[in-house]
Amino acid sequence: MRLSFSRFMRYKTCPLWYYFEMTLPVEEPPSAELLLGKLIHTYFYSLLKFEEEKTPEAVWNEIESSGELMSFENMKKDFSSFDELRDYYHSLRGKIILFGSREDYIKKIENMMDNARKISHTYRHRGYRNEVWLSESYGDLEIVGIIDLLGDGEFVELKTGGKNDNHIEQLKFYSMLYYLNRYIAPKGYLVYLSTGEIEEYRFSVRELENMFEDVKKVGRKIRNNIFPARKGSHCNYCPYRGICEYR
Ligand code: SF4
Repeated sequence: MRLSFSRFMRYKTCPLWYYFEMTLPVEEPPSAELLLGKLIHTYFYSLLKFEEEKTPEAVWNEIESSGELMSFENMKKDFSSFDELRDYYHSLRGKIILFGSREDYIKKIENMMDNARKISHTYRHRGYRNEVWLSESYGDLEIVGIIDLLGDGEFVELKTGGKNDNHIEQLKFYSMLYYLNRYIAPKGYLVYLSTGEIEEYRFSVRELENMFEDVKKVGRKIRNNIFPARKGSHCNYCPYRGICEYR
């Protein structure tokens, strides 16, 4: 069984949502935020290598040309059966979901690119490798993660959205993976490209071992088919809310 940070957090948020995702997978259309995040990550990596500059409009054009734009407001939210839900998402193939206007997105891109240019100076010449795959096996449990920028004893996670407590958990998860691979507790940086803020964390070995225990516990529960519903504000974002009897 493979557990990435997102799967681990999905289980922690609502085990039933995790179960639905594993047993009744649906392909949601990508949001403009998701594409924007990928493009801004690539832009940041290119700045570290002194590669060619881009304009915010060019980044937006890449998003616009990847599919047909559709507002989140216009998406159907309630379904009476799983088949209806799956067919609906199937019909949205090729669409990109927007949460704002074109102008909002261009402003956002401009701001993030400005911050990326300023911040990238701090991280040049550190010999980082980008998008590095780390994994560690424990019995049949494989813990995996892709680190945005990995150096010697340190790593960087780039964020293009707002702050969220999960980001610190994610940094701890990746620190745990690094520790399990190299027996060193690394320094981790959270870099917020929308605000230009940088947060630095170094978790203790005890904190990393506690997280490893927690990950193993989640692995055991999944193996034992323990999937209770955990209701909360996250239900608003769960694609299975229309078919979930506990919501
Ligand atoms: S609607 Fe809420 S309770 Fe039901 S599966 Fe989704 S997140 Fe869990």
